[in-house]
Amino acid sequence: MPNTSPNTSATPADADHAGAILEIDLDALGANYDNLRHRAAPAECGAVLKADAYGLGSIQVGPKLAAMGCRRFFVAHLAEGVALRKILGVAPAIYVLNGPLPRTEAEFLHYDLLPVLNSPCQLEQWSGAAAARERTLGAGLHIDTGMARLGLTPVEAAELAANPARLAGLDLHFIASHLACADEPGHALNGEQRQAFHHLLTALPAAPGSLANSAGIFLGPDYHYDLVRPGIALYGGNPTPGAPNPMREVVRLAGKIIQIREIDTPQSVGYGATHRVTGQRRIATVPVGYADGYPRALSGRGRAGVAGVSVPVVGRVSMDMITLDVTEAPVDAAYPGAMVDLIGGGGPSLDEVAEAAGTIGYEILTSLGRRYHRQYINAPAWNPAHRQAQRRGGDE
Ligand SMILES: *Cc1c(COP(=O)(O)O)cnc(C)c1O
Repeated sequence: MPNTSPNTSATPADADHAGAILEIDLDALGANYDNLRHRAAPAECGAVLKADAYGLGSIQVGPKLAAMGCRRFFVAHLAEGVALRKILGVAPAIYVLNGPLPRTEAEFLHYDLLPVLNSPCQLEQWSGAAAARERTLGAGLHIDTGMARLGLTPVEAAELAANPARLAGLDLHFIASHLACADEPGHALNGEQRQAFHHLLTALPAAPGSLANSAGIFLGPDYHYDLVRPGIALYGGNPTPGAPNPMREVVRLAGKIIQIREIDTPQSVGYGATHRVTGQRRIATVPVGYADGYPRALSGRGRAGVAGVSVPVVGRVSMDMITLDVTEAPVDAAYPGAMVDLIGGGGPSLDEVAEAAGTIGYEILTSLGRRYHRQYINAPAWNPAHRQAQRRGGDE
């Protein structure tokens, strides 16, 4: 079947024929937004949708959050902003965290996108664009208080505070900074960054403050200021590592067993013969591999859930497959055609998968492959882009 939708181009047309199903629960996403909004109130709660909403799909995630009342969206790249504007329509504010790269002003303005200004040079560029057009232009201003990555240095911010005329023609929607260690509540840098931010916010011309990402929201009201910018917590990642996850699970990845190998003579499993089977074992092959974003680092380390029983990934993760030792799982749950939980559901949580792979939930989500059959649970019916994608990829 010809399929032109970029969102579903590699998606099997029929869930029954799919080797793996990626379920994205938009109700849970909405509940997470509500949770964060209430926690942050009276601060406003925006949403970070960079990298295609952390791999979950801006086409579905954007309208859901807009329907929940979110009015400020953040992306990293200009192209992501353009795509999101087409999805969301004219109303919400969309901020581009990377700021205006040279000669991008016209595109920013055409799509009504707002740059986050990260350097004196970007500041000059955007105020110059305002002067050239004899109008006021909106923007965010980013001050670096401890990342050495993006944003005006504290010295540059102090210079700007001493010469606020450089902000002529600009309507600052917020002044932001980004926390380096918000997921470690005891880290001294949190308080230091907050103090530095507070000091500069007071010195600069009045504008709303924005400091907290997901984990920052959980550091308490001192960190909320006027606008919070959660990403990972919306998508179900734990913003309070080490404590129980207060967020609802949004992503569930289930793979289908395509073969069961009954082994009764000693032999090895997979590339490199890293796993040796002795005795009677049942090995299940599931068609999900590192090409699908299932980390190769989970070779011999990952777990999966089979009817709620945790079973190990044995041998190496291949490009298109993993092998599970399902000997301990009920026989009537581990057969060719049966689904096993790889992320969420009855299997390991997103954060457990990440930890076993030596990474973070962010990387697992943004690596989620394009070959899964994607199912959006409780998508808002009014979103035309979504309905179209469903029709193209759906099974009616
Ligand atoms: C990615 C990002 C966020 C969101 O961070 P999470 O940890 O996913 O909540 C917030 N602010 C900035 C500047 C970011 O780059």
